[in-house]
Formats: sequence, structure tokens, C-alpha cells
Amino acid sequence: MKYLKNLIAVVLCVIFFSQGVFASENISWLNPEKFSERQGYLIDRGELCKYLVNTYIHITKTTPSAIECKFTDVDPSAQPYIAQANALGLINGISSTQFSPNETVTKADFAVMLYQLVKKVYPNANLTGGESIQFPEDVPSYAFVPLQFAFSRGIITKDANGSLNANAKLSLGDAITILNKALKAAPDFKVVFNKFNTKRAYLTFDDGVSANTITILDTLKKYNVKASFFITGKSDPEILKRIVQEGHIIGNHTASHDYKYIYSSIDNFWADFNEEQEYLKSVTGKAPIFVRFPGGSNNTVSTHYGNKQIMNTLTAQMKEKGYLYVDWNVSSGDASGKTLPKNTIVNNVLEGCKGKSEAIVLMHQISSKTTTAQALPEIIEGLQKMGFDIVALSDSSYLPQFLK
Ligand code: ZN
Repeated sequence: MKYLKNLIAVVLCVIFFSQGVFASENISWLNPEKFSERQGYLIDRGELCKYLVNTYIHITKTTPSAIECKFTDVDPSAQPYIAQANALGLINGISSTQFSPNETVTKADFAVMLYQLVKKVYPNANLTGGESIQFPEDVPSYAFVPLQFAFSRGIITKDANGSLNANAKLSLGDAITILNKALKAAPDFKVVFNKFNTKRAYLTFDDGVSANTITILDTLKKYNVKASFFITGKSDPEILKRIVQEGHIIGNHTASHDYKYIYSSIDNFWADFNEEQEYLKSVTGKAPIFVRFPGGSNNTVSTHYGNKQIMNTLTAQMKEKGYLYVDWNVSSGDASGKTLPKNTIVNNVLEGCKGKSEAIVLMHQISSKTTTAQALPEIIEGLQKMGFDIVALSDSSYLPQFLK
């Protein structure tokens, strides 16, 4: 474990010194090779060294020296990074008996690394507050406290099945996501969960604002709960400002929402996305970090307009750029062409949330969706009766992503 701990410590140092740098919503400097194809690949310790060293270089603008290593089983492309990580004191040992560069890393291992790094970089930071968390699954004892820390800060979150899956191997995409969340939690490391079984519901409203949005906002205010709005087009600036002022979250749902245009090329998508990003920033003063793809990240309509792999590429690019795209695990059904009866929407949502500890509810706010706005009071009351806290999305939220 020693090399592991050291490895982690280095990573964390880098993270903590970098607050200013990380304000930029872009992690492409990590330079993950072929990220769009490889985000699901299991990462090994050798490759992790590369991200640590690149982070170090990015922040300090200095290149570390290298200690010669005598590993027998090292990917040659990882060798220089391992040598540099060694010189930086991130890892121990200079032979394969002491450091196994080809070994995969579990989430629990990564939590240990992060925790050591945090302690090293922020010796005075208060890292307590997660002690009451009990995990329903077996987690390795060496990683128990680090996992309590990472879970309580929203750095490592539950998977879609509601478990931590601490012993699962870490994919490249997971590593980048966790690194991102750790950076966003630093330097305060505020506790966002103090028990494992907190039930949270996230109400999300898509597309352009309308009079329904006003009704929705009035209801949210009455019940004092927060929601998240994924905005399309040049939505009414006064309503957008009210959304932000009342503590809700705004996300980007593209300027045109035109499947044929945005999904016919990567360039089209980003041009359209950036146009909406600029608009939302100009109105609210803040560039959103949350994104919802029109049709969701696993929409199949995009395959009709050219590149069949476009969603894989776009989801990978979202991660590289530091955006958080959010799908859903509960649908109100109100996307259907006709206006659904109010009670159908209420039932769809409450039934869909049954048995979930984290529910992301898909709803719509355009002018034809009158019954969604009307259903909201019963939805809120029903969810609260079921024990859900109704909250806006945050960096620490469980984020369902159809395409990982
Ligand atoms: Zn939409």
C-alpha cells in the first residue's frame, strides 16, 4: 500500500495548489490518450502516473526530474511518467517488485490516494464529518475512512444501482470524473452527505421557458425546494434571472435543439452549444457547468445524421472540458406529443421514484406542458412523503449518464 499512498498524496498536492487554474472548466491538459474511445478502459497505475505528472507540470509550470526505474513490465510510454512520479515522491520503489505499474486501480484504492494527498496538502483542513456513514457493502478496511471522506464530500458517488461499488476497477472516465469532483470540492471539502441512505430527488425541467415556468417557480417557492432547468434558445432573460435568484440551477440544453443540425457534426454541436453557453452567461453572469443533451446522451436519432459514434465522442469531450452532462432515471412521460392528464404525470413520477435513493426526474416547461406545472404540487408532496429531499443538482449529485 505504501506506493499507493504516496501516489495519492502527490495527486492531491497537485489538486490543492491549483485552485486558480481549475476555475477553468477544462481538463484537456491531462491529455488522456484517445479519451473518447478509451474512457471505459480500466486504468493502471502506470497511466495514473501520467495524469499526476501532467497535473504537476500544468500547475507548477515546471518539469520534474526523473529517477531511473528498473521496471520489467512497464509500458514504455508510461516509463518517463513513472520515473518523474518517483522523483516527485509520488510513488515508492524503483523496481517491479515494489511498484506494479500494470496493476489496475479500484475506486477504493483511488480514494486512499486522494485522501493522503488531501491530508498532505491541507494539513489543517477539517476532513471529519463523514464518520457516521456506514456502507451497505463490504469495503476494504484500509479504505474505509478515505471512502467516508470521499463519499461525504460527493467526490465518489453511488452508481446507478445505488451502491458505491468500491471494489470495482476504475475506468479512465471514472478517474477523470472523480478528479474533477475532488478539484471542485477543494479547498473547503464541505460535507454534502452524512449518511449513505439519504434519499434525494432532483426535479429537472427542459427546453425553453414559458408561462409554465412562472407557475413552476411559484410552486417551488411555496414548498421551499430547489430544482434544475435545462434551457434551450434565447429564453426570456427575466425568467432566467429569477431562476438563478431563487437558488435554482441552470444548465445548457443547446441553442437550437435541432437534432438534424447539432448531431450531424461535432463542429455543429459545439457551435450550437457554445452559442447557448454565451447567451446564458450574458444573462445570468455565470457559464453553466451542467448539460443535458437533447434526447439524452443515448439518443438514437443522432445516428441518422452521419457519424454513428457522435454521442460517444461528444460525451467524452464533455468530460474533457469539465462539463457534467445529466440524463435521468425517472421520466414524467410529459415529452409525449399530447398533453398528458395531470394525474398521469403525478403517477409516472411517484411510481418511477419508488425504490430509488437518487431520482433525477425528467419534466418539460414549454407552453404546451401545462399539466406538468399543475402536477408539481402533488409531485413535491408525494416525494416528501416518500422521504426524499428535493434539491438542485450540484457537483456532488449522483448524475445518471446513459453513456459513460
Ligand atoms: Zn429537450
